[in-house]
Amino acid sequence: MFKEEQNNPDVRIGFFICHCGVNISSTVNVTEVRDYIAGQPNVILSRDYKFMCSDPGQNLIKDAIKTHKLNRIVVSACSPLMHELTFRNACEKAGINRFLFQMANIREHCAWVHDDKKKATLKAKAHASAAVARVAFQMPLEVKKAKLNPDTLIIGAGISGIQAALEIADSGNNVYLVEREPSIGGKMAIFDKTFPTLDCSACILTPKMVSVGHRDSIKLFSWSEVVSVSGYLGNFKVKIKKRARYVDMDKCTGCGQCWSHCPASKFPSRRQIIMGENKIINEIK
Ligand code: SF4
Ligand code: SF4
Repeated sequence: MFKEEQNNPDVRIGFFICHCGVNISSTVNVTEVRDYIAGQPNVILSRDYKFMCSDPGQNLIKDAIKTHKLNRIVVSACSPLMHELTFRNACEKAGINRFLFQMANIREHCAWVHDDKKKATLKAKAHASAAVARVAFQMPLEVKKAKLNPDTLIIGAGISGIQAALEIADSGNNVYLVEREPSIGGKMAIFDKTFPTLDCSACILTPKMVSVGHRDSIKLFSWSEVVSVSGYLGNFKVKIKKRARYVDMDKCTGCGQCWSHCPASKFPSRRQIIMGENKIINEIK
């Protein structure tokens, strides 16, 4: 398959490498990478420019697409988080599907993390040629709008899970909070003080635990575990296994009377295990 695409005369790739002023070019030999990529299969054009994201830089891409009938573009520059959209838009304006574009990050992944120019250049060549090889396989895609379910699943109701659930609920969205232990609170519930202020951890945690119970938009599954997750972004399906409690939760007042008679109370609790209080464990042995 790779060979087939490499020999496909319909694949016409344009490669552009950015200096980013001196951000990239002080560590990566940009012209060496440019010339190296010029010799790669299906590369019709390989160019370098000081600032690829500037208007003249984008025009360089647009003009080259039209002049050289390019149908794939690779830009070797900064992180895609910075400018992937900029270059995708430029491709689309010049008549190429926006998904026939690939970006190689040689700034954050190369120039900014190395000081050996030779090695950084070698790595930049590897990044760039991987992007060129990849773009040959890319297919035009269509953007479609799909309905998204904004409900959030949080796995783990320790302090972070609880805080996240409360904040999401405050923003007006539903939360499914899953905790494998019978009670929420996590490790913070077993500690006496918090670092570095030595605040009483129960004083911080308890009101938040109570708040979880009072929010209609938070559905709590304690003593439960996530068994499977399927679907895709915005449309996930999650299976949750609820363990049997043998208690009618609608009637339970949480008085704790049953616990003193429960044979399970003779076993060490999670707190005792974590805190190394294995006296009871030894007694059982
Ligand atoms: S495209 Fe990225 S690497 Fe190039 S000049 Fe703009 S910010 Fe710098
Ligand atoms: S004894 Fe109290 S804590 Fe135990 S199940 Fe009954 S109401 Fe709930």
